[in-house]
Amino acid sequence: MTAMGRGRQQLDKGIDLQACEMKKWFDSNYHFVVPEISPNTQFKLNRNQPLEEYNEAKAYGITARPVFLGPISYLALSKAARDAPSGYKPLEALDAILPVYIEALKQLKDAGVEHVQLDEPILVQDIGETFSAEYTKAYKQLAEVAPKITFTTYFGRIGKAVDFVKELPIHALHIDLDRAPGQVDEVIAAIKPTKLVLELGLVSGRNIWKTDLAAAKEVANKAIQELGADRVVVATSSSLLHTPVTLGSENRLTDEQKAWLSFALEKCEEVAALAQAINGSESEYFKQNTKDIAARREFERTSDSAVRDRLAAVTPEMLARKSPFPQRREAQKKHLDLPPFPTTTIGSFPQTKEIRLARSKFNKGELSKEDYEKAMEHEIELVVRFQEKVGLDLLVHGEPERNDMVQYFGEQLKGFIFTQNGWVQSYGSRYVRPPIIVSDVSRPHPMTVRWSQYAQSLTKKPMKGMLTGPVTILNWSFPRADVSREVQSKQLALALRDEVVDLQNAGIYAIQVDEPAIREGLPLRKVDWDNYLTWAVDSFRLATSGVEDSTQVHSHFCYSDFADIFPSIQRLDADVISIEASKSDLKLLETFRNHGYSNEIGPGVYDIHSPRVPGEQEIKDRIAAMVEVLPKDLLCVNPDCGLKTRGWKETEESLHNLVQAARWARETY
Ligand code: GLN
Ligand code: ZN
Repeated sequence: MTAMGRGRQQLDKGIDLQACEMKKWFDSNYHFVVPEISPNTQFKLNRNQPLEEYNEAKAYGITARPVFLGPISYLALSKAARDAPSGYKPLEALDAILPVYIEALKQLKDAGVEHVQLDEPILVQDIGETFSAEYTKAYKQLAEVAPKITFTTYFGRIGKAVDFVKELPIHALHIDLDRAPGQVDEVIAAIKPTKLVLELGLVSGRNIWKTDLAAAKEVANKAIQELGADRVVVATSSSLLHTPVTLGSENRLTDEQKAWLSFALEKCEEVAALAQAINGSESEYFKQNTKDIAARREFERTSDSAVRDRLAAVTPEMLARKSPFPQRREAQKKHLDLPPFPTTTIGSFPQTKEIRLARSKFNKGELSKEDYEKAMEHEIELVVRFQEKVGLDLLVHGEPERNDMVQYFGEQLKGFIFTQNGWVQSYGSRYVRPPIIVSDVSRPHPMTVRWSQYAQSLTKKPMKGMLTGPVTILNWSFPRADVSREVQSKQLALALRDEVVDLQNAGIYAIQVDEPAIREGLPLRKVDWDNYLTWAVDSFRLATSGVEDSTQVHSHFCYSDFADIFPSIQRLDADVISIEASKSDLKLLETFRNHGYSNEIGPGVYDIHSPRVPGEQEIKDRIAAMVEVLPKDLLCVNPDCGLKTRGWKETEESLHNLVQAARWARETY
């Protein structure tokens, strides 16, 4: 399993495995390892974990509802393994996987489980609608052996799929009324003639805001009117995996702030209070909720009007660079003097124990600000000297001062608050602690200039400034619920625009604005894409267009599955983009070629998510393959992503090989 997730390299034993792909779970920041399936895949039930957990809960006197990812979503989210014939779709393995589900569900029933939950989130995406035959076939077989099935959709609207879902032999249908409140009438109307129970996901499993219980109660009452009380259940909108555990362990938030919020445990209380209120008894808790919601609305109304005025005054000219790319390119060549196949990195260098220790001491007050900053400067100097020594062309300062690429900015911007313990799982043992946007966002002072300026002062080579883009800050924070994502993104863009200009004015002539989250922020339904992409790209342009032609704007993307949003990537009009490409073979690059991508591009030449060191020849082969597909004078050479989680040893070796390979490319092409 670890070899699948992280890759494994033991060259002395002849082992050199690349890691399996990890993907974000729908539009959340949670990752899953993508299963690889072929006609040769043998499915087997190794253990029945939901049953084990059911029994564990039962020992405490709690009757739980075991949860499985449903078979169709499981297969639809898988990908064809390398040994699969071309054009193979994992869904073809349905007949092979069903016996395993049947066995697991039968075990539940034998153990006396009454209700089971099968998650089928794929149905909130357009593709879900095409699986009608598969759903009908699978659920017919499952229902024969399973406890009563609650069929769960979340993160979006079920749409037309409700027409076949309502005919499935299931007990209840769960819908997400946080993300897609508008679907309630349609779904009620669709299922009314059936016997289906409707589970209303009214308490958000994705955000951290207190639920407006009075409003939720109205929705539930409407459903009850149509379907009858015995056919309506209230619930959270999705798993609570995506929210922090509890407000109870937050000691630094003010009482006012705490009264706005609700984390996983509090959300459970909300569901209970909601159910009670629907059944006729409005608890104290419910009444307090009504007051808290009113206070929050008042705060929202009186937030920062200067920021709103500035946003309202944005002109179309502010969304475009002064000249088109070819002209900018000439100006930048003179200014930065980079060789062909310029080498650079994505920004961060290893965050060593020492760095984290210094930060933790500083946060605890055990290290003075001055000493902390000295420690960071020392680290920056090491990183700069290393890059000079290994021979990189466009340097970075290494980001040692950043705890996290979003939190770091959030902490310096107005409009954010932070939790102490609001951790949310990203993958495995990796957790993130997203900042919370609570009001209009602005930048009271420069955020990164002193570090980039210091780094530049150490070297004659050009230094690249490093910022996180507006869409990514937004996507990796908990957003406000009272204004649109577009407004929040553009407020962030204005704050970053000032930072970009300040960096340039401080002598930093290459500035990278990372947008790794731009793709994952895509709405789950295609009809909503255009609107999102318009404001997302405009936000990036607003953030980066304040500079002179001679300043080189970079951007970076992770998980760069771009085929379907290509025009938007071009419209960002970044002078240079670096993308994750080492795991996606060359299909991705062909996309760029086929669309005639016109700006500079650095397809990552090796995978940084694994400690595996890429050999020099391997990188040369990569570059050779890149040259086959893209114009050589647009190509840059860089790793796949930041080096933050890597150790120094593999970083040194890998970057050495990378620089040697780029030198070879300069001689060869
Ligand atoms: N500049 C960031 C870094 O190097 C980018 C990280 C990311 O793309 N996720 O860490
Ligand atoms: Zn990245």
